[in-house]
Amino acid sequence: MRKSTERFSRLETQIEEMIEKYPHSHNILSAFKTILRERKRLVEDGFCKSEDVLQVDKIRLQGGVPVCRHAALFHPDEPWSEMALAMIPAIKRGFADLADDLQKIEGGIRDGSVQPKDYLTSYPELDEEIVRNWATKLNIWPLPLHLLLISILRPALEVKAKELIDLLGDFSWDKGYCPICGTFPDIAVIKDKIAQRWLHCSRCRHTWRFNRVLCPYCEHEGKEEGTTYFFVEGKEKETAFTCGRCNRYLITLNRVSELGEWDFDVVSMGLTHLNVIMQEKGYSPLAFTEWNDFTAQQ
Ligand SMILES: [Zn+2]
Ligand SMILES: [Zn+2]
Repeated sequence: MRKSTERFSRLETQIEEMIEKYPHSHNILSAFKTILRERKRLVEDGFCKSEDVLQVDKIRLQGGVPVCRHAALFHPDEPWSEMALAMIPAIKRGFADLADDLQKIEGGIRDGSVQPKDYLTSYPELDEEIVRNWATKLNIWPLPLHLLLISILRPALEVKAKELIDLLGDFSWDKGYCPICGTFPDIAVIKDKIAQRWLHCSRCRHTWRFNRVLCPYCEHEGKEEGTTYFFVEGKEKETAFTCGRCNRYLITLNRVSELGEWDFDVVSMGLTHLNVIMQEKGYSPLAFTEWNDFTAQQ
């Protein structure tokens, strides 16, 4: 087995490079660093790997229905509690203020009063009432519970997405949401030379090619109602696609030659200033993530 320093060195180097390039992303990247690291470990160790082959309805998939809507991605025996107990120390390191609440959640998981499977197994239908009830029982706010649950949902979906993509082979997909988990992207990349636009799923990290001019959210194409690209002067490679019809934006990297090398969650966190600017302008992201939702503080 590779030494842990070697295993995570690429991720950590990327985080350091991003902080150096965008110093204002220091707080976000420092807070999420150990969560990103634990996510990577859970994915590489194959947590939630399927024992059986998922039954995918290819006809419905071709019709634009993501896999999560016609096949149960998770079975009741996924190791959610084990994942949660592994993720809690990672969140504590980045979010010291939540340590007491996370301690209570850990107690709840250990004594069985908090069972993450009750919330996560039915993905994409997530019953928020369950989380509110746990929070009331533990006498905490729902926020740390949500942060924990989404932090273990991400690697689980990533494992499933990798498996499914291998299983499905080539298939056509022309929607702006993810063909696997049904979520909208948090970042897009326009490749150099061939000018293709690739979308990065904000949850399972699958990437897929999408039409260059349509809005991935409302599929609008139009100059009058303004689909355009915003960028900060002198930083033309980092832009935000905006749609005047649905009032959404999508952070977009322009003319990128190397796609495979980057961890796009790190990139997304590094470009947090663009999220702030676009939300101040009144736009909403295509997908809210734990690191781009500034509405709660307003
Ligand atoms: Zn996805
Ligand atoms: Zn739109």
